[in-house]
Amino acid sequence: MPIEFRCSQCNALLKTPDDTAGRTAVCPKCGADLAVPTPERPLQYIKSVPLEDPGPRRFSPGENKAIASLVLGLSGLCFFCCCPIGLPCALVGLVLGIHGVRSELRRLAIVGIVLCSLALALNLGYLAYVLVQWLNAGI
Ligand SMILES: [Zn+2]
Repeated sequence: MPIEFRCSQCNALLKTPDDTAGRTAVCPKCGADLAVPTPERPLQYIKSVPLEDPGPRRFSPGENKAIASLVLGLSGLCFFCCCPIGLPCALVGLVLGIHGVRSELRRLAIVGIVLCSLALALNLGYLAYVLVQWLNAGI
């Protein structure tokens, strides 16, 4: 049965085979040197053993929204002169950014919101400019 314990530095839940009890291990998340706990005897071994790799990091739905907000904000800025693309990008990105603010990627979501706001202003400004030009040309 594998030993489960928490990293004393980052509090990550770690698993290691029970034959590693008492040895020193490196936390795969933060790199801290840890003593693998053993129920019977005190920890005094110094040989390092690798811990199971938890695999690639998975993003929570909130973090996905923060990332999507950033990408859509950049897209909205790039495509501002093409309103059918830029305007929806900016609007959807703004909503996703607001939803992603409570995730761990809060700063990314805020950058996404700022970019989407800029993109929205740019898109609406360009749309107004095109409409004014179109109206002037029509008269
Ligand atoms: Zn750690």
